[in-house]
This record gives sequence, C-alpha cells and structure tokens, in this order.
Amino acid sequence: SKPRYKWQRVLLKVSGEALAGDNTQTIDPKITMSIAREVASVTRLGVEVAIVVGGGNIFRGASWAGSSGLDRSSADYIGMLATVMNAIFLQATMESIGIPTRVQTAFRMSEVAEPYIRRRAVRHLEKGRVVIFAAGTGNPFFTTDTAAALRCAEINAEVVLKATNVDGVFDDDPRVNPNARLLESLSYQDVTSKDLSVMDMTAITLCQENNIPVVVFNLNKTGNISKAIVGDKVGTLISG
Ligand code: UDP
Repeated sequence: SKPRYKWQRVLLKVSGEALAGDNTQTIDPKITMSIAREVASVTRLGVEVAIVVGGGNIFRGASWAGSSGLDRSSADYIGMLATVMNAIFLQATMESIGIPTRVQTAFRMSEVAEPYIRRRAVRHLEKGRVVIFAAGTGNPFFTTDTAAALRCAEINAEVVLKATNVDGVFDDDPRVNPNARLLESLSYQDVTSKDLSVMDMTAITLCQENNIPVVVFNLNKTGNISKAIVGDKVGTLISG
C-alpha cells in the first residue's frame, strides 16, 4: 500500500560537516543516532529512504589538492574514501536500532560494502531497507551533492533533501547578518543566477534538468529530518 505522504521515495543528503556537528571529533554519534531514529520513524510509515553521505568532515579533495604535490584526482579519491567511513558509521548506527541498511559504493570495495547496482538499490528500497550510497559518483572533480542529484534521478526518487547546519537558504549570511531572511521557496534560476551557495552548479543543474526539487533544511533541530521526509514544510524548497 502506498503511503499517504507527499513523497514515496526520497534521497537524503547528509554532508560530512553535518555529521560532525560542533564536536571536535570527526563524527558526533549523537547526530548519527538522531538521524537513525528519525529515518526509522518514517520508514515505518512506508516512505523509502536512500542516503548519500558526504566526507567533508574527514577530507575535502579540493582544499588538499596542490599541497605536498597532491594532484586533484588523488585528493578526490581520498575524499571519496572518507565518505565510505561515514557511510559505515551511519549504517552501523542504523542497524543498532534495527533498521536494515545496505551500503553501496560507487567503486568496488566488496569486502566492505556492495557495489552500486541501480536495480539492486531499488529492490532494497522496495523491501523497506535504507540504502546508503558512498564514494560519491566514483569520479574525481565531482561532489557528493552531485552524487545525490545523480542517484536521485537514477532510482527515481522524488526529491533531494539536503540536510545542513543552517535553517535553509537565506538572502544573506545568517552567521554574519542577524537580519538575514530565510527564503521559503526559490527557483533553480534564482539559485544559479544569484550564485546562492546551496549546491555546486553541476548538482543544481542536474536537479533542474530532471525536475528534481531540493529541500534545504537544518538537521540539528529534532523532528526536521522526519518532517522533510514526509513532505511537511521545512527549510527552503527549490523547484521549477
Ligand atoms: N568526491 C569526489 N567525487 C564525488 C564525490 C566526492 O571526488 O563524486 C570527493 C571530493 O574530494 C570531496 C570529498 O570527496 O571534497 C568529500 O565529498 P564532499 O566535499 O561532497 O562532502 P560534503 O561537503 O558533503 O561533506
């Protein structure tokens, strides 16, 4: 039976930075546990959840490239490996509270996780399992936001839910300007033309070309993840 909710299948993007929270450690287990709990509450309602994890809490290719002779591709492979660490951490947390979860990597690490196989990923979702996509797109020079848009399109998920450390997209930097206003809805055009730093250009245009709406919201507020997943109003909605 189909759920009564706005979305049937969602792609949740969790950045590495969000996993770290304000902890000085690379990952805050309180955050992974709250993600697990909220995801559990919605999978129980029948919404299918796929997750793309970032790796910026551990390693960001672009900021390392150049130093000590590290070329961009090598740096990016290290960044992709970082996302696998986050994915395994999140999987273990989810399974500790009884959510069946599979990790699929964009390049083979078959002792650790399944390789990415689109049809198999969809089958897992249909069976109520959460699928975590790791290693980004598998290609250097891309980001996990682009991986989120790509996987979303591939598995026919209906929306990219981008969990961040801010409430959504503002008309100015809220950390600098206390009067910055939260924008409740935006077009893709607004994002690209005003260069609002929501997602990189590759990711946002991939969403635009495939008519995938993006919801940007704060994962640090309890209940927000489940709100976003069931389609309640939260954060900023970007669409056509
Ligand atoms: N990365 C990559 N290709 C991809 C996805 C990620 O090369 O398709 C690398 C890149 O170096 C990036 C790092 O992995 O800096 C971590 O991903 P990202 O910065 O997107 O993580 P987030 O900002 O979401 O934590």
